[in-house]
Amino acid sequence: MQVRGPFDLHTHSSVSDGTEVPADLVASAAAAGLAGIALTDHDSTAGWESASAAAREHGVSLLPGMELSTRHGWQSVHLLGYLFDPADAGILAETERIRHDRITRAETMVARIGHDYELEWDDVLAQTTPDATIGRPHIADALVAKGHVQDRGEAFATILHWRAGYYEPHYAPEPLEGVRLVRAAGGVPVIAHPAVSSDRILPEDYLRRLVDAGLFGLEVHHRDNSRAGAKRLLELAAKYDLAVTGSSDYHGTGKLNRLGENTTAPEVVERLVAAASGWAPVLG
Ligand code: AMP
Ligand code: FE
Ligand code: FE
Ligand code: ZN
Repeated sequence: MQVRGPFDLHTHSSVSDGTEVPADLVASAAAAGLAGIALTDHDSTAGWESASAAAREHGVSLLPGMELSTRHGWQSVHLLGYLFDPADAGILAETERIRHDRITRAETMVARIGHDYELEWDDVLAQTTPDATIGRPHIADALVAKGHVQDRGEAFATILHWRAGYYEPHYAPEPLEGVRLVRAAGGVPVIAHPAVSSDRILPEDYLRRLVDAGLFGLEVHHRDNSRAGAKRLLELAAKYDLAVTGSSDYHGTGKLNRLGENTTAPEVVERLVAAASGWAPVLG
């Protein structure tokens, strides 16, 4: 595959917590002048088909992918997986388990919030598309609709913050298991925004185990990585021969992140596609 323009390797649609349906997200990417994007909804591949059809229509490239929720101890780690086989039994079982537990967890949080604010589970369901991966952003949207907060940002800073007392974690596998699952399905794993706080990068000995299991790269150029953290990530990438990616983590109107605000070097996209064997990209 030859890459001819800017590529954004991390975007969300309404299949998870983005605000545009997959086809509209692809249209937005074309309008933004991107050569291609990866669709990386949380814990779901349900948008791949419609996004692929839209990519063919608009003449942009599409790398179907996913942002897999994992956890190392108390630390939430988002693992981007690209071009894996979406019918792989291991991936299917794990993502179904995560999505299912996300519902139970969101119901628990809504029940807790409901003691102090007028909020019901139906208010959250009203903010989701059928079969979407449910997360705190949908509870945030319900809180906005009810007039309790102004926007998702305020909801996350207040009611949805883990310190507020309503928080409940959801099931997530270890990052090492995530890397193994993505690789076993022919996909290419990259750690998303690994330095959202510079003192929270995974321990180096654990990172080495991820590399040994087939980790491909680190998402260094992302607005949530701290400046010091991004510098450290570049050192780690050089030391362990990991690819460096950049992306927006676009969520439509759900976040300030704009499509193409960070992009990935063409040769890295080409290497990533060459490393995959589970699924073929749509070439624009
Ligand atoms: P959850 O996985 O359900 O705990 O929710 C985390 C998700 O919320 C992440 O995928 C982010 O995209 C989103 N998120 C986190 N902080 C914010 C924020 N301040 N504004 C909007 N979305 C956010
Ligand atoms: Fe998100
Ligand atoms: Fe993330
Ligand atoms: Zn994301």
